Amino acid sequence: MVGRGEQYLAVGIDLGGTNIKAAVVNGNGYILASNQVATLSAGGPDAVVDRMTELVTRVWQQAGLTGMRPDRIGVGVPGTVDAHTGTVIFAPNLGWSHFPLGESLGRRLGSPVWLENDADAAALGEHWVGAGRGMRYLLVITVGTGIGSGLILNGKLFQGSTGRGTEMGHFKVVEDGLPCGCGNKGCLETVSSASALVRMAREALTRGDKTTLSKNSDLDARDILAAARDGDGLARGILRKAAGYLGVALANMALALDLERVIIGGGVAAAGSLILEPVREQVTRLTRPYSKPEVVLGVLGNAAGSIGAAARVIPGSPHFALEGRET
Ligand SMILES: [Zn+2]
Repeated sequence: MVGRGEQYLAVGIDLGGTNIKAAVVNGNGYILASNQVATLSAGGPDAVVDRMTELVTRVWQQAGLTGMRPDRIGVGVPGTVDAHTGTVIFAPNLGWSHFPLGESLGRRLGSPVWLENDADAAALGEHWVGAGRGMRYLLVITVGTGIGSGLILNGKLFQGSTGRGTEMGHFKVVEDGLPCGCGNKGCLETVSSASALVRMAREALTRGDKTTLSKNSDLDARDILAAARDGDGLARGILRKAAGYLGVALANMALALDLERVIIGGGVAAAGSLILEPVREQVTRLTRPYSKPEVVLGVLGNAAGSIGAAARVIPGSPHFALEGRET
């Protein structure tokens, strides 16, 4: 059976601080082709737009669609955006402020462009065709270098009074804790992100704690996840600690919003049950005696953002928004 919107193809882009990923997505949310390039944001926004333009053309050809251009493009951006004007308001990882990405990319490609915050795009992707399908009250938390979140309320993305939506990375979970990039202290991001895992591992290595992790300068979160999977006690302890704080933040959200399901995505979700089980225990403990949401891992991996960005521009997707844009 051909679903509504099956005839539409779009390119969804996940613009990250390190890489730009692009995918050709059909009206049922399936990826026909995908590719990525380095962002190299130090070259300035115009150079990044050039790279995005080349990437879109390449991925379109890869899907066997040579000779045509996509007639709709959605972009997930690591920062705040004004979707209605196509402006990136502030993207600290890219060093951008008030950059008209929608207009700039749209002019090069001759196609309308919709911008979305990257964590919101990931939530839209998981809700459309991933682990949150059919849910009306869903929270998707993306735990990577930083922590982002997207909230679906009554089947629609919650954007709040200013369009910012939810920022769970900056929930305060440690009183007088470590400084955060936002200027505050004790944010969730300082204790549960991939960067926080690395910081905790380095501190333990400096103390001389027993571990299979080595003190090399390029230690990253993947090394910690691998060591935890191999049974390293220190690495497992670090994950449990990060999961404990994550559980506090998620339990508070669940109590506020009576959520059906919570999805954990992002690089740290690759830890699987080593992150999921302690988060579940904490959420169960802290929401008692009230009903608790199911806590599951995302199923779209790092494609969630590009699929969700495409969902905004594909008619027939539950999150289609492009026609509502002011011109
Ligand atoms: Zn913060």
